[in-house]
Amino acid sequence: MKSDIHPQYFEASISCACGNKWKTGATVEKIDLEICNKCHPFYTGKIKFVDKRGRLEKIEKRLKLTRELAATAKTKKIADAKKATALKKKELKKAAI
Ligand SMILES: [Zn+2]
Repeated sequence: MKSDIHPQYFEASISCACGNKWKTGATVEKIDLEICNKCHPFYTGKIKFVDKRGRLEKIEKRLKLTRELAATAKTKKIADAKKATALKKKELKKAAI
């Protein structure tokens, strides 16, 4: 084996977001995974959302805000429509007199 050309070889500890840990040989000491064979939906048969960086939370927050805005816009429209009909009724009464 030629010297000074090979990277350092470690017994790397691998840890998954689900808590599963094992060791293997690698050129880095530590490897963090988001999904492994113990928690992947293909092996477990269960639906799981992999969300380590909070992207799903961001989307849910944005969706909630959008729904709230739509709801307020809808109630505002209804309130505006009621005001408009009330004004029209008043105008009709004035015109009738
Ligand atoms: Zn896992």
